[in-house]
Amino acid sequence: MARFVFITGGVVSSLGKGLASAALGALLQARGYSVRLRKLDPYLNVDPGTMSPFEHGEVFVTDDGAETDLDLGHYERFTGVHARGTDSVSSGRIYSDVLEKERRGDYLGKTIQVIPHVTNEIKDFISIGEDEVDFMLCEIGGTVGDIEGLPFFEAIRQFSQDKPRGQCIFMHLTLLPYLAASGELKTKPTQHSVKELRSIGLQPDVLVCRSEQEIPEKEREKIALFCNVRSDAVIPAYDLKSIYEAPMAYHKVGLDQAVLDAFQIAPAPKPNMDRWLDVQDRIHNAEGEVKVAIVGKYTQLEDAYKSIAEALTHGGMANRTKVKAEWIDAEIFEGSDAAPHLEGYHAILVPGGFGERGTEGKIKAAQFAREKKIPYLGICLGMQMAVIEAARNLADIKDAGSEEFDHEAGKKRFEPVVYHLKEWVQGNHVARRKVDDDKGGTMRLGAYTANLKDGSKVAKVYGETAIEERHRHRYEVDIKYRDKLEEQGLCFSGMSPDGRLPEIVEVKDHPWFIGVQFHPELKSKPFAPHPLFADFVRAAVEVSRLV
Ligand code: GLN
Repeated sequence: MARFVFITGGVVSSLGKGLASAALGALLQARGYSVRLRKLDPYLNVDPGTMSPFEHGEVFVTDDGAETDLDLGHYERFTGVHARGTDSVSSGRIYSDVLEKERRGDYLGKTIQVIPHVTNEIKDFISIGEDEVDFMLCEIGGTVGDIEGLPFFEAIRQFSQDKPRGQCIFMHLTLLPYLAASGELKTKPTQHSVKELRSIGLQPDVLVCRSEQEIPEKEREKIALFCNVRSDAVIPAYDLKSIYEAPMAYHKVGLDQAVLDAFQIAPAPKPNMDRWLDVQDRIHNAEGEVKVAIVGKYTQLEDAYKSIAEALTHGGMANRTKVKAEWIDAEIFEGSDAAPHLEGYHAILVPGGFGERGTEGKIKAAQFAREKKIPYLGICLGMQMAVIEAARNLADIKDAGSEEFDHEAGKKRFEPVVYHLKEWVQGNHVARRKVDDDKGGTMRLGAYTANLKDGSKVAKVYGETAIEERHRHRYEVDIKYRDKLEEQGLCFSGMSPDGRLPEIVEVKDHPWFIGVQFHPELKSKPFAPHPLFADFVRAAVEVSRLV
């Protein structure tokens, strides 16, 4: 049965709880343990699928087709363990399940209450698959004291009581603010935060303290004394240049040791840090730099494309080069020439997106990349834009467009080269959708197989001809335009196994122009860069050598 680590946060949000959890997962793996990470989010949305990327950052999609919190992306990138739909839950999901059971009569007419009905639902969620791993790491979103968070804190308190002694520990992240005027690190907010936790029955075993300044031994002792934590379980967390330094940094300050001590695991298995030493070496010893333009819509918030930014970094690590990604708002060159905005970049990436706004700019970016022979990676909407561009400018279908935009505008303006998919094969059943279906959870979601054409560029990049990648979209390139487009040099080099859904297109006489209907960025890891990103960056390096 798994041991459980519950990770909570206090004082302020955005302390890097997700990163600390992910790094701890990696460190436990380095000691030979199997791990799974989970996120429990107090917000009332049923899942993040319909939340704006501006507000919430990217939606991370799992193999089994769940739309989850972006922290699950961190977990995967650090541990390589593929997340599942059952690794992410929100208050909205918990309440909606409880209410569904109530309507079904499952509670036999009882009064439904937060304790025990909501807390039981949370506890059931936490224990899913508990026999499969050595450690289950559960991160609670938000900070202690948030109104919505209370049922989760209560549930983990009960959970630890239900389990035998020593099977659950609590790790709490706080901030030590530095007052420049007096030159002091202040421990009071941490004390208050722990007091808040203790008032609801939770005593942290490990305290991770974010600080911009070195934490003197004296302050550590003080925190330990006032927060009732052992002093070697007060772990400093300093700012890092790269998030991928976190496992080594946390290891050096004893986080994994403190966690194993809290479980009284002695002697602790020796860690093998080779993977993270290599990752660190690649970060610190990168030569040169390539500039990649990311032409998108949600450019104000970098978290909106978190996995893409990370996958590009991994691509850089594969080539031992730095990747400077610059975010360009596609709308700025809609009414004008794209060239002045895109010249000087060694590669162009058009990421996924929804809605018509900015799409004419993305189409221009695809055209620029194709004509100037600049490496182009189009992801999901970025592939659809590349196909529309080729249809308009190579195959002479002047009004080529996507049904998505006509639906949005409520009138027909385009020839639907990209159309609304209403029926497709999912495993061994047929999935069906209508245009006016609910927005949540109705897309083609999760892992699907694609067969790659022998001898194509993508087959070479992947080194195999059957791949599995994650999807999240409603619209598809219409196969009926295939012949016309292939005649003009846009090759359909990856298809769904039934041959009906185009998965990958590539431009024939071009050094590197690939569009993919799926999201390769979701599967990239620092220690295993995704082949498409690794090769895209390699192509960018080649361009940078020419100039
Ligand atoms: N909006 C497009 C679709 O639904 C593309 C989605 C995406 O890029 N993730 O098909």
